[in-house]
Amino acid sequence: MMPMPHRFLTSLAVHHRGQIYLFDAGEGCQITLKKAKLGIKPLRVVAVSHLHGDHCLGLPGLLMMRAQVPDPGPLTILGPPGIERFVSDLHELLRFFINYSLSFVEWHEESPEIPYEDELVRIRWGPVRHTALCLGYRLEEHPRPGRFSRESAEALGIPSGPLRGKLQAGESVKLEDGITVSPHQVVGPTRAGRHICYAVDTRPDDIVRRLCQDVDVAFLDGMFLPEHSAEAEEKFHMTVEEAACIASVAGVRRAVLVHISPRYGEEDLEKLAVAASRRFEKAEIGRDLRRYPVPYRE
Ligand SMILES: [Zn+2]
Ligand SMILES: [Zn+2]
Repeated sequence: MMPMPHRFLTSLAVHHRGQIYLFDAGEGCQITLKKAKLGIKPLRVVAVSHLHGDHCLGLPGLLMMRAQVPDPGPLTILGPPGIERFVSDLHELLRFFINYSLSFVEWHEESPEIPYEDELVRIRWGPVRHTALCLGYRLEEHPRPGRFSRESAEALGIPSGPLRGKLQAGESVKLEDGITVSPHQVVGPTRAGRHICYAVDTRPDDIVRRLCQDVDVAFLDGMFLPEHSAEAEEKFHMTVEEAACIASVAGVRRAVLVHISPRYGEEDLEKLAVAASRRFEKAEIGRDLRRYPVPYRE
């Protein structure tokens, strides 16, 4: 797929607590990042689906741009076998400057299901069904601590201040009268974090369904209209109907269909949206630079 004057290539930037987790870096993706005003320093991870140009040719420019800020911190690149060679060969040939540490995790048959985890999120991956080895991803925010019950704390006579903080952090505390209070007496059950799936350039498949099971938002390949399903099959992509079906079966809360074929102009997007929502009413067509807030479930 080629970048179009009116539509950029598919990338997803997840902005979470000041950090950015980027999925795919097609040609010119540093321009979109600039337009989105997300900054380049907070970029922590680039997860590349596969080594087709429309998903990875933006990497060199992105890496160069990141070296323009002082001390940007380490960057991890996840991707299929060959992603490290792709970047290091370009780095060596073009001799561009990098002022941060760059680490790679390449998928292989025995890869752990979770290739990346930090204090905020973890990322799962799995090979989907495309003409090249292609990875689908799922980003999971860590579960949040339970809700602190002020009423229970008052009833137990726990004074405001550090004791309450310790309980919320999961520690038992001893009150002045010698009574021990454990966290479960004042803190509710752990609350689930938010989950996002990113799976493009694939046929409908069990791994895609698993990666988007019950997620809050799934960004899925919806390259073709249902009437072009033969082409979707032949090129290993999905029609918007197929993507919407997967989202519906997997219990996705909201589906955003992306990687739209360049053959469809602005005027066709409504047609694509209608075809998708016939199968799943919470399905829509993704738009460049649009922000998709992900609210907590409660
Ligand atoms: Zn591809
Ligand atoms: Zn593609």
